[in-house]
Amino acid sequence: MNIDSIKNGFVIDHIDSGKGMIIYEKLELNKLDCQVAIITNAKSKKKGKKDIIKIDKKIDLNIDTIAFINPDATINVVEDDKIVEKKKLTLPETIVNVATCKNPRCITSIERDLDQVFILTDKEKNIYRCKYCESSLK
Ligand SMILES: [Zn+2]
Repeated sequence: MNIDSIKNGFVIDHIDSGKGMIIYEKLELNKLDCQVAIITNAKSKKKGKKDIIKIDKKIDLNIDTIAFINPDATINVVEDDKIVEKKKLTLPETIVNVATCKNPRCITSIERDLDQVFILTDKEKNIYRCKYCESSLK
């Protein structure tokens, strides 16, 4: 695979070094049947080091999950070898089944079928709280 170019798909750029694999796992990119490349520790002017993920397919990308994991990443949409759009990420108001509540008494610890829902309660500090027990993620 030529990792420099993809024809139609996404390039997730400016991922914090080390978070590329987390995004890869959370988005379940291993389940795709298209070409996916992860570049770790690429040189970055802004960050020193960064990770990059390239997906050679127009998939239904879960942007909220990426924003939650790495709010200052950028997503480039590629069509016919050209970047046609750069998506800016904003912190999602709610995230579902991305993080797990750590509170052992939380109903989500008992009822495993429940969705893990977290709500953004403090935008400045990037704090999410469990919808059920209000435990914070940090
Ligand atoms: Zn909880």
